[in-house]
Amino acid sequence: MIRQKIVAGNWKMNGSKESILSLIGGLLEMDGSSSEVVVAPSFPYLSQVNDLISGGSVMLAAQNVSHELKGAYTGEVSASMLGDFGVKYVLLGHSERRSLYGETDDIVASKVKTVLDFGFVPMLCIGETLVERESGKTLDVCERQIQAVIDVVGIAAFEQMAIAYEPVWAIGTGLSASAEQAQEIHQSIRAFLAKSSESVSQKVQILYGGSVKASTSSALFKMPDVDGALVGGASLDAKEFIAIVKAAG
Ligand code: PEP
Repeated sequence: MIRQKIVAGNWKMNGSKESILSLIGGLLEMDGSSSEVVVAPSFPYLSQVNDLISGGSVMLAAQNVSHELKGAYTGEVSASMLGDFGVKYVLLGHSERRSLYGETDDIVASKVKTVLDFGFVPMLCIGETLVERESGKTLDVCERQIQAVIDVVGIAAFEQMAIAYEPVWAIGTGLSASAEQAQEIHQSIRAFLAKSSESVSQKVQILYGGSVKASTSSALFKMPDVDGALVGGASLDAKEFIAIVKAAG
C-alpha cells in the first residue's frame, strides 16, 4: 500500500515572532512536495503560523492539548481552542510530556480520544528508553503504549491517526536509530496493529523521530515501513528541514 509521507517539525519550546517569520518564509518558497509538511509551534504562535501558511500546503500541529474540555484548569489549552487556529494534527504522548509532565498511558489515551472527538489527527508518539532497549523491552513498551490507546478508542480509530516511533535515547541526543533499526521496529509495530486489523495496519502512517538530519533522512525514507519523520532540533533550521522534506520526495 502507498502511504503518503509526513514530515513534521516539532519546534518544542523554541521560536519567536521573528524567527517564525523567516522559518515559514523558507518553507513557503519550497517547490511542491509529494509529502505532507507539518509544523508544530508553541501555543502562542499557532495564530501567527496559521495566518502565514493559510491557503498553502503546509499543515499545522499543536504540541499538546488538555484532555479536559473546559473550565478551571489554569494553564491548559482545550481542543475546541485549537479548532480556532486551523490545527490539523496534535502531538500526543511525546516522551518529554511522558517523562517531564507525568503523562501516563491512560492520560495519553484520553487525550487521543478528545482529539479524535474534535476531528483532529492525533500523532501518537511512542518509544522506549535506553534501559528498556538494552533489556530487550523495546517492543513491549511500544505495544503497551499503543494498546492503552486501542483500549480507549478502538483499532478503527487508528485509520484517523499517525504514529511516531521515537526512541527516547535518540531524541535530542544526536544518536539516531539506523534506518534498519527504525524499519525493524516500524514493521513490528505494523504487525502488532495487524493482530487487531490488517487493513488499519496497512493504512496507518508510522513516522520515525529521534535526531533526524538531512544527511540520514534519505536512507530512512527508503525503508518500506517508514512513512516520514517527526523532526525536532533540525526543524528549527529552514535549510536543513527543507532538505529532509526533499529527501522524503
Ligand atoms: C522530537 O522532539 O520529537 C524529536 C525527534 O527531537 P530531535 O529531532 O531533536 O531528536
